[in-house]
Amino acid sequence: MILLDGKIASLSVKNELKEEVSKIILSGKRPPHLAVIIVGNNGASETYVASKVKNCEEIGFTSTLIRLDATIEEVVLLDKINELNNNKGIDGILVQLPLPKQIKEQKVIEAIDPAKDVDGFHPVNAGKLVQGLSTFIPATPYGIMLMLQYYQIETKGKHAIVIGRSNIVGRPMSILLSSNNSYGNCTVTICHSHTKNLKELCLQGDIIVAALGKPEFVKADMVKEGAVIIDVGITRVEDASAKKGFRIKGDVTFDEVAPKSSAITPVPGGVGLMTIAGLLKNTLQAYRNRMLDVE
Ligand code: NAD
Repeated sequence: MILLDGKIASLSVKNELKEEVSKIILSGKRPPHLAVIIVGNNGASETYVASKVKNCEEIGFTSTLIRLDATIEEVVLLDKINELNNNKGIDGILVQLPLPKQIKEQKVIEAIDPAKDVDGFHPVNAGKLVQGLSTFIPATPYGIMLMLQYYQIETKGKHAIVIGRSNIVGRPMSILLSSNNSYGNCTVTICHSHTKNLKELCLQGDIIVAALGKPEFVKADMVKEGAVIIDVGITRVEDASAKKGFRIKGDVTFDEVAPKSSAITPVPGGVGLMTIAGLLKNTLQAYRNRMLDVE
């Protein structure tokens, strides 16, 4: 069994990016600049945002963290996005989700200039992904593809089971795995909360991507010998014995599934780290596209 280690794979991506940023700076240009907006102070969001900012700094990107109060009206956020859209010094804009109830997420996603939409959630970019056009791939599926490439996991002709159909993970993942390219060409079955016989379907999977947000949902009896297991789930589960009062659990029962698998991602230390790698790659791409436009 190969442990698909997000630390190692993401470091390889980050080292490449770091080198590219050094070259950019040596050529006298400014580095890529990511703006991150956080609304309120949700504990998990704070952790994700801090990690994104830290990773930008590590590879030489500029980052700006914008904090808005949890009680703001939607228009305040939309104005801020508009300001960033028009700011020539900003290449990528990321609004950390989820947002407080009074703000409509879809409206916010659609307010971001597609050219700066490094999360790849804007309908224009999602549409391009469906048509196999160059676009910003949502960071988590992008990170998973980078992980599969790093560990040279063969996808061609394999049957992939994707559990979850969100716009952020499951659906784009199913599109990428079924696309006609070097990291696709799978036959994909996409499963969701209304899927019947999920266990039987999972047992057919050469590759299983679990992205449903139900801790330890995928058990050993749902997995065939030698399957590749990608665990996307991140859930904080209360645990009084843990320092922080909770533990992070994936969607797969790692201890029992790992021995049956040929390769598996751990949680934490797997897909989460690759998500950041995907985001950083998108930010560099946004920068390049925009620099080409002004040159
Ligand atoms: P979501 O709640 O938007 O979607 C969950 C999907 O799972 C839905 O499509 C639903 O139909 C499906 N589902 C729910 N119960 C099911 C069941 N019993 N059987 C089959 N399908 C079922 O969640 P999301 O935003 O896609 O995130 C999924 C998980 O991935 C969460 O734990 C989230 O925290 C995690 N996540 C991790 C990263 C990362 O970087 N590692 C990034 C994004 C999301």
